[in-house]
Amino acid sequence: HAARDEGSVIAWFDNTVTSRLAERLRLAGRIHSAIDSEFQLYFQPICHASDGTPAALEALLRWPQADGSFIPPGEFIQLCEDTGLILALGRWVIRAAAQAQRQLADAGWPLPIAVNVSAVQFFNSDLVAEFSRASQEFGLARGALQVELTESSLMRKPAQAKQTMQRLHEQGICISLDDFGTGYSNMSYLQHLPLDILKIDRSFVADVETNPRNASICRALLSLGHSMGLTVIAEGVETPGQHQWLAAHGCDQVQGFLLGRPAPLAQVIARLEAVEV
Ligand code: C2E
Ligand code: MG
Ligand code: MG
Ligand code: MG
Repeated sequence: HAARDEGSVIAWFDNTVTSRLAERLRLAGRIHSAIDSEFQLYFQPICHASDGTPAALEALLRWPQADGSFIPPGEFIQLCEDTGLILALGRWVIRAAAQAQRQLADAGWPLPIAVNVSAVQFFNSDLVAEFSRASQEFGLARGALQVELTESSLMRKPAQAKQTMQRLHEQGICISLDDFGTGYSNMSYLQHLPLDILKIDRSFVADVETNPRNASICRALLSLGHSMGLTVIAEGVETPGQHQWLAAHGCDQVQGFLLGRPAPLAQVIARLEAVEV
């Protein structure tokens, strides 16, 4: 009888659901064995809006495949969060970013590296210890690493979030609020969090110089960020027109394909040196 019930439950799933589930399980297994051996970090410059000089780099995960393609983070981060794999992967990212910052500083470019931290990782790992261990291992200066959090991290458990942020601050780690404007932040609460940087989501930057709605949103976010004493970064800057608009409206820093696509560290250092002359 039990077997028949089980059968009917299985029959209840249609083929697409079961095959999607199987696909996700297969992918999770592949990720598990790929951490430490297959993942790479790429780096994208974050530049001063006024003169385009680099202020920091953002570390972005890449998962190269045998055929030369990449599986983008958008296709595996969520799965890693759902399965808890993000804890091991996130730990790998922190250490790899610290190692890269050491190489960058040794090459004469002591720029901070910003690390994306997902909400699951923020609340379920000893983030502060992981950052301090990695910084010590590679002998990093104070301020060498930064953390990018999203609104969902901060708003889910505000008291715990605030405490972790304060402990990161004690280590000299600056904190950015990523993808700002896409979540549902409680503004009055946001104001009490120890944030340093606000990153305006690229959806608002896309056509800022031609779309009055996005222009109003960007103006409002710039004014909100500055009134809170934060550095404001615009994400997804692709055209000189967007860059000019943002600089003219007081945006502090810009990041996007116009300023540089994400690339392996050696390539980023080569580009920095090419501009230097
Ligand atoms: P994010 O943190 O907002 O990163 C910026 C994303 O925008 C990156 O996508 C970057 O390649 C892309 N981008 C930069 N400039 C431009 C531009 O001018 N135009 C357009 N269309 N896109 C631009 P990517 O690398 O695919 O990463 C997507 C998201 O995956 C990231 O968004 C971040 O939320 C997540 N992610 C990436 N690496 C990590 C990681 O190490 N850990 C965690 N937890 N999440 C990560
Ligand atoms: Mg980010
Ligand atoms: Mg972002
Ligand atoms: Mg974004």
